[in-house]
Amino acid sequence: MTASMQLSQSALSSFSRCRRRFFLRFVRRLEWPAPLTGSEQEWERSLRRGEQLHLFIEQAALGMDVQGLVEEAGDEQLSRWWNSAVEHPPAQPTGDVHTELELMVPFGEHRLVARFDRLIVAQQGDSSAIHILDWKTGTPQQASRLARSWQTTIYQFVAVEASPSLTAAGIPVRPASVGFTYWQAEAPQSPVVLTYDEAAHKAGRQRIAAEIAHIEQRLNGGEDSFERTTDLDACRHCLYRSYCERGREPPPGIDLDEDFEEGPDGSLEEVPL
Ligand code: SF4
Repeated sequence: MTASMQLSQSALSSFSRCRRRFFLRFVRRLEWPAPLTGSEQEWERSLRRGEQLHLFIEQAALGMDVQGLVEEAGDEQLSRWWNSAVEHPPAQPTGDVHTELELMVPFGEHRLVARFDRLIVAQQGDSSAIHILDWKTGTPQQASRLARSWQTTIYQFVAVEASPSLTAAGIPVRPASVGFTYWQAEAPQSPVVLTYDEAAHKAGRQRIAAEIAHIEQRLNGGEDSFERTTDLDACRHCLYRSYCERGREPPPGIDLDEDFEEGPDGSLEEVPL
């Protein structure tokens, strides 16, 4: 029997990608091996730049004039992303806007947590609708990949399950009334818009339950149950390579793994044992 876990899309993405990585990051909670190589420093700069863009968008939504801050940053790529965000914002409904909203819902004995870049609750007659917006700064992803990502599954599921706490009358929002837009800074004019429905919500619940059961099984089996992936591509830019004898020096180039997008501290994803 395992203790209650608090799981985010990061933890579930990590587990899907490599059991060992999940163990090192979320169970052992190991820090990155130091010192960072040149490529990893570049990766970290890229991560910080993405965070900066999120912050500018959040500040602008609060009515602040951030143009001066963007110029002060003196970062060409960040300026380009910001200009794209201003010139090609994603369509979004009118309603109550929540930025950097963290929601947590129970899932059996465990908890699922999601932190939304922006979540809008709109009134539609007697009922409410939710629209999720997420800003992405990595390599643009196809709609099909985003649709089957753990982020989409967790965010849509948590939005529906937490919806009574978001609506004035405490009435749950139907899955079919949950929209999701991924805006990608490197493809600003082609936002990916996803829909949701009751069947997808049921499938999401089953997917999450199955994955949690796999995690529990391995936790019960101990450390040896968390094997290294056989997909060496997954190791190419993994910051835990040195723990796995998968090479210390990564090849050049940035490949921002989606399960690391929330930052290196893993602060959202605790797996208390
Ligand atoms: S280096 Fe490879 S095997 Fe090791 S944790 Fe990373 S992805 Fe898994």
